[in-house]
Amino acid sequence: MPHRPIDLHTHSSVSDGTETPAELVAAAVSADLAVVALTDHDSTAGWAEATRAVAGTGLTLVPGMEMSTRLGMNSVHMLAYLFDPEDAALVAETARLRDSRLHRAERIVERIAADYDVSWADVLAQSTPGATLGRPHIADALVAAGLAPDRSAAFAGILHWRSGYYEPHEAPSPIDAIRLIRAAGGVPVIAHPATRGRDTNISARSFEQLVEAGLLGVEVRHRENTEAGAERLLELAARHDLITTGSSDYHGTGKPNRLGENSTDPEQLARIVDAATGWRPVEG
Ligand code: AMP
Ligand code: FE
Ligand code: FE
Ligand code: ZN
Repeated sequence: MPHRPIDLHTHSSVSDGTETPAELVAAAVSADLAVVALTDHDSTAGWAEATRAVAGTGLTLVPGMEMSTRLGMNSVHMLAYLFDPEDAALVAETARLRDSRLHRAERIVERIAADYDVSWADVLAQSTPGATLGRPHIADALVAAGLAPDRSAAFAGILHWRSGYYEPHEAPSPIDAIRLIRAAGGVPVIAHPATRGRDTNISARSFEQLVEAGLLGVEVRHRENTEAGAERLLELAARHDLITTGSSDYHGTGKPNRLGENSTDPEQLARIVDAATGWRPVEG
């Protein structure tokens, strides 16, 4: 019998998922997951609610985060597991990231509002107070205004980086993020690093630098990784003895990704738990 899925990448309404942390936990129980990691963008604000919600469910929670970083023109996402959520340097950096995202989103909306009937208030109406704001919330406002049929269409159109409305937000380098996560006792795993074929996203040279900086794992099985890219990731992981994971990147109704559609092997999760010194999994 196959293992019940271990899904190490999900989002709640603390960032750009559509369900509260408690609703996400309930969905993970319904999907019969053994383990779920809550990995909201640049925020640990959902940890407490998710921790309360798993009590008595039999589901194990791995508290985490997906940190936004940038390498040149590329947005690179760094998953972080089981770090100390009160680590001062990490708290300061994620606060800076959320603030930069907020002002960047306001500027994007200002430009869109010059051409379309949508306002900043419409975007705020699509998010919970304090949530890490991003293009998904702007997408929801565009959908609510009838300017796009769904998030994906909004991303393919008005929110596309070539649309003329786009701008990036500030972000640390992946190397700095890895160092911050390790210093907080966490386990950095690079998220969906092979979405553009075999040799793009991250060069072999950059990859080596990330490993030298303390990268511990790679998300191999993710619906946006290409098959050839996932093969290359397995080679790199074998060469550097990295942890390999598989995950859904669930966003509730915000994306088609379904809980448990990819899973992480129990031995790989054990390596994450063993490497972490900042926090422990929460057994529900
Ligand atoms: P941002 O970080 O604000 O630039 O927005 C990127 C976020 O939007 C990522 O976290 C993705 O989860 C989400 N996203 C990217 N493309 C799409 C899409 N086609 N449909 C829905 N969400 C998307
Ligand atoms: Fe997201
Ligand atoms: Fe991501
Ligand atoms: Zn994600």
